[in-house]
Amino acid sequence: MRIVLLGPQGAGKGTQAQRISREKGAKHISTGDLVRAEIKSGSELGQSIKDYNDRGDLVPDEIIIEMMKPYLDEADSWILDGFPRNESQAEALDRMLAEIEAELDAAVALEAPDDLLVERLSGRRTSEATGNIYHVEYDPLPEDSEEDPGPFVQREDDSEESIRRRLEVYHEQTEPLKGYYADRDILAQVDATQGISEVTDDILESVEKSP
Ligand code: AMP
Repeated sequence: MRIVLLGPQGAGKGTQAQRISREKGAKHISTGDLVRAEIKSGSELGQSIKDYNDRGDLVPDEIIIEMMKPYLDEADSWILDGFPRNESQAEALDRMLAEIEAELDAAVALEAPDDLLVERLSGRRTSEATGNIYHVEYDPLPEDSEEDPGPFVQREDDSEESIRRRLEVYHEQTEPLKGYYADRDILAQVDATQGISEVTDDILESVEKSP
């Protein structure tokens, strides 16, 4: 399975990629997680990309491609979450796939209106211990969960200003990729306003149906 998850921030790409990865055994490659891990490590590279992340701007293409390529080469079944984010990254992905003689099975776009996305992002919390993502209202940790989540943290870029900027960047640069993949007949669109399990079912169904 090789799929790209497209969709604005807050549409649930991370949550869905986690679920599908667990169910299908495909590797979840999240460029946002790679960016946050690099920043957290305090490396020189991390320091140089922190401002882009915190503002909600895209990290330069060469840096992000360099960061994710080893993960792509490592696994033959994966879900890309957060990459590609613009046309030049989509072209770079095509070149990387050609190098390993692989093809994309599907590009799945999660669709949701901006006002719902803002609501979801502002209530989003991540468990520091497990990395799992929750929402204070819509998807809290179940009371009978055996997991010890440790403290919950809010992402630096989940501030109102950065949320607005990220949605702007999405509409300008990432949304046109729907046309890029529709032209190749591998685009599936899924209603991301549904419940979490319904969205997972729709994604899996659309991947199975894709040529
Ligand atoms: P995400 O967790 O996918 O929302 O990504 C968080 C931040 O990481 C983004 O706002 C960007 O600053 C950076 N980032 C993640 N993926 C990419 C990408 N493919 N291209 C450029 N920047 C990215």
